[in-house]
Amino acid sequence: MFLPHVPEATAELNHKGYRVLVVTNQACVGRGELTLDELERIHESMLGDVRAAGGEIERIYVCPHTDEEECDCRKPRPGLLIRAQQDFGFEPSQTWMIGDAGRDVAAAISAGVRPALVCAGKDPAYRAPNDVPVFDDLMDFARQISAIM
Ligand SMILES: [Zn+2]
Repeated sequence: MFLPHVPEATAELNHKGYRVLVVTNQACVGRGELTLDELERIHESMLGDVRAAGGEIERIYVCPHTDEEECDCRKPRPGLLIRAQQDFGFEPSQTWMIGDAGRDVAAAISAGVRPALVCAGKDPAYRAPNDVPVFDDLMDFARQISAIM
């Protein structure tokens, strides 16, 4: 479920003073392949893995819709990021959205937060715009974030 080193990288980011949230497309719910309860249980287990590594993901925002539902929250749309911004009051220009796909970068740009790409993801053919920094994985990002801010 997690990309490589996510629990340890979350702990590293927390250690550097960053709060960590997750925004995720889960069209499998909209397609009826998974219930929201089942997804919740998977997420609880993931949060437990992060806690065991000494980190904390404070909230997981889910878009349960399919493309056909044309909601405002399925990435590349910025709805989940906007909701998170309203809930947590973070400053978009000081917030990073780290994703593994072009739609993550697009959602970040729409929401006014800073995009970063990790290549350990599922979209190796995607070429980020020039000004989007690229990292091997979330731990690589966590280690370098002080240098690029
Ligand atoms: Zn949605």
